[in-house]
Amino acid sequence: MKSNEKLQAMLIKNYVFFSMLVGIMAILLFVLFNFQLLKEMGESPDSKLKAQEIVRQDFQKIPSEGVELVQGWVEILDDHRQIVFVKGKKLDSITAYTEKDLNELFYDSKQNRYHASITPFETEEGRNYYCLVKIPKKNITSDLTFSNTYNGQYNVFWLLIIQTSLLFIILFSINVYLYSRWTSTKITNPLLQVARGIKDIADGHYRNRLNYKANYELQQIQASFNNLAERLEKAENEKKQLEESKQRMLVDLSHDLKTPITSIKGYVEALRNDLIKDEEKRKNVLNVIYTKTELVTGLIEDLFELTKLDSPDYPFAKELSDIAEFIRELAVEYYDAFEDKNFHFQFEIPSYEVKVPFNQILLYRSLSNILSNALAYNPEGTTVTLKLTEDDTKVHISIKDDGIGISNEIKEKVFDAFFRGDQSRKSDGGTGLGLTITKKIIEMHNGSIHLDSGNGYTHFQIALLK
Ligand code: ADP
Repeated sequence: MKSNEKLQAMLIKNYVFFSMLVGIMAILLFVLFNFQLLKEMGESPDSKLKAQEIVRQDFQKIPSEGVELVQGWVEILDDHRQIVFVKGKKLDSITAYTEKDLNELFYDSKQNRYHASITPFETEEGRNYYCLVKIPKKNITSDLTFSNTYNGQYNVFWLLIIQTSLLFIILFSINVYLYSRWTSTKITNPLLQVARGIKDIADGHYRNRLNYKANYELQQIQASFNNLAERLEKAENEKKQLEESKQRMLVDLSHDLKTPITSIKGYVEALRNDLIKDEEKRKNVLNVIYTKTELVTGLIEDLFELTKLDSPDYPFAKELSDIAEFIRELAVEYYDAFEDKNFHFQFEIPSYEVKVPFNQILLYRSLSNILSNALAYNPEGTTVTLKLTEDDTKVHISIKDDGIGISNEIKEKVFDAFFRGDQSRKSDGGTGLGLTITKKIIEMHNGSIHLDSGNGYTHFQIALLK
């Protein structure tokens, strides 16, 4: 079946086919009816009504139907004109004939109520018998054809009509049954699949897809159903991934907290037990403890920030402000830090106003994460460029450095929570949450962030809607 064939078209087609079938059936039955009618009535009746035509050696088998149809009967007489056998319903009580009786039978006188025909014949046993046929005159004409007044002809006609009608009703019923089955399977089979599919989804099995060939409307249902199942399956997978990532976050978090706290505990224990006598060493230990405490505090603060941002009722308000001025202030703030570390800090910021709706505190946090990373992970002499450009619908913030770069393997993961590159681990500095927070903030602004990096360069491109 063509998939774009509409249900209505299919039903019309079936209906036409069904009607044609009924028409052909009716024509065939009509032909059959006529054939039967001709057979029953068209045959020359006198050939069946005359003794010489129906006589048989085995007289019991004489075909007397034609005679009986006109209420006549057949008598078999022996050579003494005694009746030895009768076929049909005998209407008189004669049991034997004289020669005179017989002669009178063939006079066409008014008193003669029967038309008679007689023929001699020899039986199988070699006896000479007579076959006498008697038919009431009222039922036939003088030339031995059916009388117009005789209704036997009509009986045959009506019998044939009833027979043909019954046959038609039976064939019609079979046709109706087959048609309804054929039509319904074209509709019910796909519907059964749909019902099964819905049940699967209700039971939480999203993998199964519908796969049937049907009409346009049912194909549409199939396409929508499969689309829905696909989306549910995707959502289910995402949910699973989210749960897994939360689980992983918890494991990472407990690990990241445990490591510095364990070493703080070790150092404090040593101090408490007076194990470090040398004043210089004590100072160093205290410095290490301080750095580790800073790390833990940073981690907790970042985590708190991320949780806050993730919360649906976090008060997030954007204000239409001049982003060029905002970026300029950011550049000024970072200028000294870059200078101190012997970086080359370049910026290209329009001198005119560029109005964009954004949240100053959050965007500051987002961009300073990127600038701080550039400063933290790259060696002296690195050039960092901060650019602001705009087009009709967006502003583009680009922060690029020609430092150590981020390899392709870890590029995909830098935005994941708790992901820290080797450099960060070695220096024991980062929390692994910085870029996660950055991305989250940009997304809250309905903006986009893209990282392009490789060996020797790192380039973050941010776009915000105007
Ligand atoms: P953190 O800095 O706390 O480790 P981030 O999410 O801010 O976490 O950064 C993830 C990782 O991406 C860092 O650990 C670092 O390895 C890498 N990274 C980020 N920015 C740069 C950069 N400008 N140059 C090189 N590596 C970087």
